[in-house]
Amino acid sequence: MKGNLIIISAPSGTGKTTLLKKLFAELKGVTFSISHATRNPRSGEQNGVDYYFVDQETFKKMRTNNEFLEWAKVHGNYYGTSKKEVSRHLAQGLDVILDIDVQGARQVRESSGEKYFSIFIAPPSWEELERRLTGRGTDSDETIKLRLQNSRLEIKEAPLYDYMIVNDTLDQATNILRSIIIAQRSRSRRDAEGLPLSLPQL
Ligand code: ADP
Ligand code: 5GP
Repeated sequence: MKGNLIIISAPSGTGKTTLLKKLFAELKGVTFSISHATRNPRSGEQNGVDYYFVDQETFKKMRTNNEFLEWAKVHGNYYGTSKKEVSRHLAQGLDVILDIDVQGARQVRESSGEKYFSIFIAPPSWEELERRLTGRGTDSDETIKLRLQNSRLEIKEAPLYDYMIVNDTLDQATNILRSIIIAQRSRSRRDAEGLPLSLPQL
């Protein structure tokens, strides 16, 4: 039985990466599609774990060869989801999370042909978003400014998503995210761990 495709978007700095790490530690049967990105790795990020870090030339070649399920230019860099990676995981029965921006989400909605559901994660306030972006300590002032500007545009797309979570406290936001994924599993006749349900024989 194929897994679910789960689109998750959030303004940069909301805490999506932190939330997903906690989710993966707590829930079985769910995985993450590692995107290709042309930005430089942040300290601590690893190629093939956080992203496949590629140069623009490689990215363009993959785009021309139609290897992406979706792709977009986000905050000045290119990001894309590999079709092959997603279908391999779905075929294994795993739920696959696409951590993608609002432009990519629109492409999946309009044209991928895959069944999906989508979740928007919002920060509790603009002030807290700025605090988190600054507190992360990984981006220059200029990058933070660009990301904050873009977040105002991104949040306008929140009504297009099936679910919305405010990442106020991490524990509560993770619980809600886990509950949504488990509820969707029940809809596709799978148990809380994502395995097919078998009914008692009549
Ligand atoms: P994103 O992946 O959405 O860009 P990160 O996961 O890198 O964001 O989180 C940005 C910063 O906010 C990090 O320093 C992280 O530790 C912090 N953070 C994440 N979630 C919360 C939360 N619920 N409360 C307070 N700080 C948080
Ligand atoms: P970051 O540089 O902070 O890791 O990610 C910046 C933004 O790019 C985030 O909104 C993230 O969701 C988005 N992103 C990451 N990978 C992809 C992808 O493959 N496609 C699209 N469209 N956006 C992505």
